[in-house]
Amino acid sequence: MNLVFCASEMVPFAKTGGLADVTGALPLVLEKAGHKIVVILPFYKEVKHSGITVHKLNAGTSYAELGNNIRVYFIEEDAYFNRNGLYGDKSGDYKDNLERFSYYSKKSLELLKEARFTPDIIHCHDWQSALIPVYLKSLYSQDSFYKNTKTILTIHNLGYQGLFPKEKFQILGLDNSLFNIDALEFHGQINILKGGLVFSDYITTVSPTYSIEIQSDELGFGLEGLLRKRSPRLRGILNGLDYSIWNPETDKIISKNYSFADLNGKKANKEDLQKVFHLALRSDCPLFGIVSRLDQQKGFELLASCMADICKMDLQLVLLGTGDLKYHRLFEGLQKKYPKVFSLALKFDNELAHKIYAGSDAFLMPSRYEPCGLGQLISLRYGAVPIVFKTGGLADTVNNRRGFVFNKFTSENLLAAVKEAVRIFPDKEKWGVLVKNAMECDFSWEESAKKYSQLYEEVQKA
Ligand code: ADP
Repeated sequence: MNLVFCASEMVPFAKTGGLADVTGALPLVLEKAGHKIVVILPFYKEVKHSGITVHKLNAGTSYAELGNNIRVYFIEEDAYFNRNGLYGDKSGDYKDNLERFSYYSKKSLELLKEARFTPDIIHCHDWQSALIPVYLKSLYSQDSFYKNTKTILTIHNLGYQGLFPKEKFQILGLDNSLFNIDALEFHGQINILKGGLVFSDYITTVSPTYSIEIQSDELGFGLEGLLRKRSPRLRGILNGLDYSIWNPETDKIISKNYSFADLNGKKANKEDLQKVFHLALRSDCPLFGIVSRLDQQKGFELLASCMADICKMDLQLVLLGTGDLKYHRLFEGLQKKYPKVFSLALKFDNELAHKIYAGSDAFLMPSRYEPCGLGQLISLRYGAVPIVFKTGGLADTVNNRRGFVFNKFTSENLLAAVKEAVRIFPDKEKWGVLVKNAMECDFSWEESAKKYSQLYEEVQKA
């Protein structure tokens, strides 16, 4: 099948979060399964600095090659994309994101025609490419090139919908009639994601549990009614993990490789991590790690409310993250107060992330909601036992045989889970079983890719 992936980030070119991991891995596995793949991304400054060779195609397009024969096209427009961040900078989201991503979406459809790549399916991801199904069903509805093309929109996080003031509607180049409650209008604003959810042929999200949760008032972010209506064409397919990148047996970044059969290397990584974060070289207390965007979604409100209690326990905790400045300040204050227990790095740092997964005994991920989550999948593989709230993809991948799961989103419950981990840690046998069960999990992309392939067949026939 001819498949096109349209997304706003992709490993190894540009990444802010899990979406990039997904778009970086899934096309490679699908290509191996026999599909022909094209990917289209904006040509960000970050792509230019990624170190990957990019060729010029024409004035507005460049491309790179991946896998066997995957072509990754980049839509060039320096005025929009030659900036430091993907979506914004320190002062917040870029004000012209609607202009930027509507431009990207329109150009993507033009580019496929120029390249004469007729897609069976265009697989879009999140609001940044959600206009593509809208354009196909409106501006391109009579275009014979796209007459057999179907669309899928994958929701990686319903919390980000692409909301803009209605005054900008004309920039989209759509008929004004589409600014209505059954299309792109949402409480008086433009909602780009909603447009994609209305017009795409199928919708997916990144875990079975999240596909149900987004239909609820609590986690539907106002789109639950629409999602319930579209539920016959809504699926939840769990993300996989790219074990060629995330594998303690082969990881070149960590200080010593290890496997479950030989956990000695894990001890060396723990020491390395303690050194990097200036903590005492103790093996008798558990070292907890956090690698995350510092955002309310990730449960930092909850964590903040019980950090003082956590820091009074016999443990060590390291945190790597960037995001909301209020959490930067809060955690800096806590580090000053509890320097023997808590240490942090407020930045995005892939190498340090690898070291944390490898060196930690336990991994804290108390997300309020979590569409899939990669952090817990990585930590499982590295034998850093995850502590999670039972939600979305966390509920689908962690259980009490391989981690600590708390059922109510309260600081008491989080604290109790951390206490339980600290209590069990000295019992090497019990802890060893948790680590073994964690490391033996297989969340490879092959399984997920099979499900996507089945879905593509279904979508093509629909
Ligand atoms: P998100 O909601 O941010 O996409 P996921 O758990 O799905 O959350 O994926 C997060 C990905 O980004 C993981 O690969 C994680 O290791 C990585 N990550 C998050 N924050 C940082 C950071 N500060 N430095 C390095 N990697 C990070």
